[in-house]
Amino acid sequence: MRPTEDTYRHKGLRKKLVQGIQAKGITDDRVLDAILEVPRHFFLDSAFDEVAYEDRAFPIGEGQTISQPYTVAYQSQLLEIKPFMKVLEIGTGSAYQAVVLAEMGAMVYTIERQKKLFDSNDEFKFLKKYPTIKFFYRDGYEGLPTFAPFDRVIITAAAPYVPPKLIEQMKVGGMMVIPVGTGDIQQMKRITKLEGGALKEEVFDRFSFVPMLGGRES
Ligand code: SAH
Repeated sequence: MRPTEDTYRHKGLRKKLVQGIQAKGITDDRVLDAILEVPRHFFLDSAFDEVAYEDRAFPIGEGQTISQPYTVAYQSQLLEIKPFMKVLEIGTGSAYQAVVLAEMGAMVYTIERQKKLFDSNDEFKFLKKYPTIKFFYRDGYEGLPTFAPFDRVIITAAAPYVPPKLIEQMKVGGMMVIPVGTGDIQQMKRITKLEGGALKEEVFDRFSFVPMLGGRES
C-alpha cells in the first residue's frame, strides 16, 4: 500500500534531506525546492515510511529501484531545466524523477519498458496532480519520434552507449544527461547538440544505475 498522508514529520525529514543534498554540492535552488516539495514516501510502499527520506535508492518491484535523491538532484541540475521545456525521460520507474522535473516546470514525456511499473503509475492517484507528465509504455531506445524534438533528454538507467535515435530527437541547443557504461559503475555525461548537428560531450561523476535494457517487457 502507498501512503497518502504528508505529515509535518515527513516535511521535516524532507528539509533534512535537502540540506544533505546541498552539502553534497547541489546548488540549483529550483532543484532543491522541487525535492523539498515532492513527498518521496508516496512513491514507495508504506513499509519504507521510516526510511523514505534517507539519501538512498530503494526497490520498487520488478528488480527496479527509485533513484537516490542525490542522483535525481544531480541529473536535474545538469539538465538546466527552464519552465515549459519539453523533456524526454527514459526509465519512468517510480515516477519520482518525472515529478521532480514537472515541479521545475518541465513538460515531461516519460517512457517505461516494464508493463507492471507502467500500470502501477496508471493507478497512482497522486500523479493526477501533474497533467504535464505524459506516460508511455515503450522501449526507450526508440524514443518518441511523434513528440520530438525535445529540449532535454534524461536517461535514468545505465546506457551501454548513447542511443542514436535519442540524439536525433533532440533540438539544436538541446542537452541529454546520460549515465554511460556496461559495468557496475557508469560515467555521467552531458551531451549538447550544436548548430549543424555536432555534439559536445562533458563528463561528470560516476554513478551506479540499473541497466537500460532493450525491447518491452510484459
Ligand atoms: N527515474 C526512475 C528510476 C527508475 S530505475 C525513478 O525516479 O524512480 C530505471 C528504470 O528504467 C526501470 O524502471 C527500468 O525498467 C527502466 N528501463 C530500463 N531500460 C529501459 C528502456 N529501454 N526503456 C524504458 N525504460 C527502461
